[in-house]
Amino acid sequence: MGLTSFHPPQRILMGPGPSEIHPRVLRALSRPTVGHLDPEFIRMMDEVKELLKRTLLTRNEMTFVVSGPGSAGMEMALVNTVEPEDAVVVCVNGVFGARMKAIVERLGARVVVVEAPWGRAIDPHRLEDALKAHPEAGVVAFVHAETSTGALSDAAALAAVAHQHDCLVIVDAVTSLGGCPLKVDEWKLDVVYSGSQKCLSAPPGLSPITFNDRALERLRRRKSPIPSWFMDVNLIMQYWGGDQRRAYHHTAPIHNLYGLHEALVLLQEEGLENAWRRHWENHRRLREALQAMGLQWWVPEAERIPQLNAVRIPAGIDDARVRRRLLDEYDLEIGAGLGPMAGKIWRIGLMGYSSRRKNVLYCSSALAAVLREEGYSP
Ligand SMILES: *Cc1c(COP(=O)(O)O)cnc(C)c1O
Repeated sequence: MGLTSFHPPQRILMGPGPSEIHPRVLRALSRPTVGHLDPEFIRMMDEVKELLKRTLLTRNEMTFVVSGPGSAGMEMALVNTVEPEDAVVVCVNGVFGARMKAIVERLGARVVVVEAPWGRAIDPHRLEDALKAHPEAGVVAFVHAETSTGALSDAAALAAVAHQHDCLVIVDAVTSLGGCPLKVDEWKLDVVYSGSQKCLSAPPGLSPITFNDRALERLRRRKSPIPSWFMDVNLIMQYWGGDQRRAYHHTAPIHNLYGLHEALVLLQEEGLENAWRRHWENHRRLREALQAMGLQWWVPEAERIPQLNAVRIPAGIDDARVRRRLLDEYDLEIGAGLGPMAGKIWRIGLMGYSSRRKNVLYCSSALAAVLREEGYSP
């Protein structure tokens, strides 16, 4: 143990997140520190809110950033909208849906689970059946892009079914935001949260979130207090709120917010639709390269997340050894399968700044070379 400065290796990050950080974002992180109530910082926070509205395609005033990772955004969304004894429908088709369910259970609510096999989208008909069987349900929660399996659900269709049954819709858009179409207002999504380290190419640790008027109305009608001080949106809005008089709530992660601001500016410069197209094009390139090697995708074509490719591990190939060799010999990180998918898939991310043509080429060549040396033949 030298206990001197830490200099991490320069990796190419093609796992399920974090993705590579854009060099302009890295530079933004090292700008001078100001106070979290400095008028210039507050001006920047207002820009972050405006940039987020443009990225989420929403006019919601209650749009801000949770000081915590995507899981904190998940908790923020649920803690404010769910009360003990509520009936909440949670769609589960992977690790993150299961995490939503765990949070709802801890809040003392009754969970109705709508399941899909791991690697498949949530079927809106199954949601419809569950809502018919449970007319008492008031909230529907689901994951748009299930990063643990690579399956993309139809958020607009699920939200439409939920609204027919007068339910509030809570959506996990951690992996989808910036990487594939996500239209908060058009699709009538009531609460949506995301994460900074996936398709936004910013450092981990921040979670953009938005609440529409329907969600705020539900909040106003709460009978029980919000069980978390830190997560209470009413208190947080004293700091992130609309008027210019901002009060201390907690010390904002100042430099991380510089980074997110720059990342959102970059996305506006590129154009949201161009960013979606870039993620799609690089997915297509990776698919052509890996399919030419005989590798197969886990998720049916119509349900795939372009920015997270779940590839079947060929029979007889040692999962951990291949990933270790890619890391040691090529400085390349790809993701392992989680939970029941462990040992069955690799998760190759093409998210944010990592979604570049050069990375597609590098990853497919490196994987081909290692697989050949490990005795794989298509
Ligand atoms: C990564 C991820 C999360 C959790 O984000 P953290 O920043 O790791 O807390 C939640 N949901 C989905 C779909 C994710 O991909």
